[in-house]
Amino acid sequence: VTAYWCELLVDELGTHERVRFELDDGGHVAARRSGAVPQIGDQRLGTVLPGFADAHSHLFHRVLRGRTHDAGGDFWAWRERMYRAAAALDPHRYRRLAVAVFGEMIASGYTAVGEFHYLHHRPGGEPYGDHDMEVALAEAAAETGIRLTLLDTLYLTGGIGEPLSPRQSRFGDGSAERWLERWRALRDRLAVGHPGVVLGAALHSVRAVPPEAMALVAAELPADVPLHVHLSEQPLENEQCLARYGMTPTELLASAGVLGRRLSVVHATHLKDSDITLLGDAGVSVVMCPSTEADLGDGIGPALRLFEAGARVALGSDQNAVIDPFLEMRGLEAGERLASGRRGRFAPASLLAAGARAGYVSLGLGGSSGSSGPSSSHEVSLQPGDLFDVVELRSDSPRTAGAEPSQLVLAATAADVVSVHVGGRRVHHRSEQREEALGAALAAIIADVDAAGESETETHTETEGV
Ligand SMILES: [Zn+2]
Repeated sequence: VTAYWCELLVDELGTHERVRFELDDGGHVAARRSGAVPQIGDQRLGTVLPGFADAHSHLFHRVLRGRTHDAGGDFWAWRERMYRAAAALDPHRYRRLAVAVFGEMIASGYTAVGEFHYLHHRPGGEPYGDHDMEVALAEAAAETGIRLTLLDTLYLTGGIGEPLSPRQSRFGDGSAERWLERWRALRDRLAVGHPGVVLGAALHSVRAVPPEAMALVAAELPADVPLHVHLSEQPLENEQCLARYGMTPTELLASAGVLGRRLSVVHATHLKDSDITLLGDAGVSVVMCPSTEADLGDGIGPALRLFEAGARVALGSDQNAVIDPFLEMRGLEAGERLASGRRGRFAPASLLAAGARAGYVSLGLGGSSGSSGPSSSHEVSLQPGDLFDVVELRSDSPRTAGAEPSQLVLAATAADVVSVHVGGRRVHHRSEQREEALGAALAAIIADVDAAGESETETHTETEGV
């Protein structure tokens, strides 16, 4: 029997001393007891928190970190640079980049990631032979040890009523029917080689998916498949949606039958009061991405109001300008305080739930069945039946010394992560050599993507010249 003994466990109910976990063969919690004595063979840990979920990532945006602040570009200018990086990625580079970025995530305390993936095809739109880009992600997850929910994304239009631009053509499948065909084939492909990967789905946004296509996907996807969608990140999306459909993006999702407990809406920054009611009543998950929303100047979404209306709040790193679950939790509360002029909006335990449990549910990893549903709606991590994914944290670092353990989420950073365990397997232990190796891997693949991106841009310009 694999067993862990934790000197101190911090969860959504508070702190628990001397907690012993016994695990089953699948890496789930089989038994949990506080006030326990460690036994011979137990893995002993110090201060332990549940593993964090990055419920919204585009891993390839990591290439842009620390390089887009000089030109004074807005969201749309940033997006232009992002397309250049995307064009440079083939399955081999995508896999190497994914290994490096997932490695950074693991070392920062993320034990699960929802990769919102739309780099499906060759530049130009021709399919690869055997789901090569998706398999690259699955292999990278297996190599690093992070849990992957692959949110394969339907992307049909370049804007409402507009065709895909040439550089977007590799994102698209032409129709919702063809995407569904590919999604089913991908499910079969992953079931054979990568049974640990959860295959989810995503609608890119109301900008990229017409309502008929959304309705078809909502009707055809099995009910236990997590479904994600970008929602109202920019005021322009709302304006265009109103002009075309006479509805807000939230109302459009509702009319297409997409709202429900399996749905996660990402950002939800610019909402009307009635949108908040619709989303709360439907019990959706809302994935806030505080570091990205701040970086891109999106605005501050009404996270607390959505939570109070009945939505579950999870967190994502989105463009990966920051990979640090503690900074996302702190950013969620900071946004609420700055917007309201008051402290203590989300309690530390609620922030922990947003960083850990809620993200697991959003990614179809909640509860023993591995899928979200009423039986897994309890919001306390590491109960019997749950995946045993944990992070061990330094409570005596210059950042955390003196902090109340229950408030560590507002004091620590990713630099305080000592070790990370997924399903009872240690996947990370901090050391200087490990830090250096992660940094070197990132630097090498980013340089490679840059070089490939430059030759891609030359080709692109030549073609346009012709
Ligand atoms: Zn996104």
